[in-house]
Amino acid sequence: MAQVSLNAIRKLYPNGFEAVTPSSFHIDDGEFVVLVGPSGCGKSTLLRMIAGLEDITEGTLHIGDREVNNVDPADRDIAMVFQNYALYPHMTVRKNIAYGLKNRKTPAAEIDRKVAEASALLNLDDYLDRKPSQLSGGQRQRVAMGRAIVRDPALFLFDEPLSNLDAKLRNQMRIEIKALQRRLGVTSIYVTHDQVEAMTMADRIIVMNSGKIEQIGTPAEVYHSPASTFVAAFMGAPPMNLLNARASGGSVRFADTHITDGAPADGPVTLGIRPEDLLLDPAGPLSITIDIIEELGAHRLLHASIGQEQLTVHVGKDTEVSPGPANLSVKPGTASLFAIETGKRL
Ligand code: ATP
Repeated sequence: MAQVSLNAIRKLYPNGFEAVTPSSFHIDDGEFVVLVGPSGCGKSTLLRMIAGLEDITEGTLHIGDREVNNVDPADRDIAMVFQNYALYPHMTVRKNIAYGLKNRKTPAAEIDRKVAEASALLNLDDYLDRKPSQLSGGQRQRVAMGRAIVRDPALFLFDEPLSNLDAKLRNQMRIEIKALQRRLGVTSIYVTHDQVEAMTMADRIIVMNSGKIEQIGTPAEVYHSPASTFVAAFMGAPPMNLLNARASGGSVRFADTHITDGAPADGPVTLGIRPEDLLLDPAGPLSITIDIIEELGAHRLLHASIGQEQLTVHVGKDTEVSPGPANLSVKPGTASLFAIETGKRL
């Protein structure tokens, strides 16, 4: 196990493109950190620099007490799990799991013991003599995990490991990976573009946008107090409502209604409210028109308008609702405010 520290790590590709601007963070021993962001934001580049598969242009990287900028990937004491499993098709599950150990000339008895341990942990006992082609996607991903586990690494790196699986299996595997990580206590960095994976698996989330870190925080911090409109819109499905409001004397008004206090300056401001923090309330001050009701079984989403603004409201499955006029109130203390020009949280 190990701590990981990035100090002003930057990546310039040879064509001059800056894929990662100088970025710093510290990961505690045993922590599960998820790097999340849209396609092209630089999360894989960052992970590959930690793995040693990409050169670090500037900055220093420590794994444990060691600076590893110039240490070979094989000597960084890490194990990586990829989206495409990278299993050897001609080898059995047992041989795939044992491969790295065998390569390092680990004694046969120790290999057998470690493979047996990993196989029991991952429920692979019945599949050890099969080839990867005879396994389901989830089982293949477990074999890839097994290969990582037997190496007893200081650090696990996951690069979108679940993106090849269907939605149901992805849900199941993310619980399995999280439970396994808890049990083994190995420091882990997990890259995904899926904000649900980030929310459900992470101890802390790092949200990236265009090569920059937008926010580092627990899932609750990132969800409830997004550092920018980018984070507010990226985390959460449906995203936070971002509305054009006005501040005057500290009071924030939207659609001629006082919503919250605490604006630092007068003028236009972006008001952020999560769909579940808008309440259907006959006495509520916001008069909306419900345009579309989206039925999702356990709950419903109301797509509504108020003047030129569109907003989404989350209601329970038992709420009586029909298209047309309705009234809303805002759950006290839930509104976020962002600067119009920068999108940063105020
Ligand atoms: P995805 O989820 O699509 O994999 P990502 O967030 O992991 O995206 P990266 O793969 O890290 O993004 O790429 C970050 C940016 O760097 C992208 O704009 C990409 O086009 C660019 N990039 C990646 N590799 C190179 C390279 N070898 N040379 C130049 N630019 C590159």
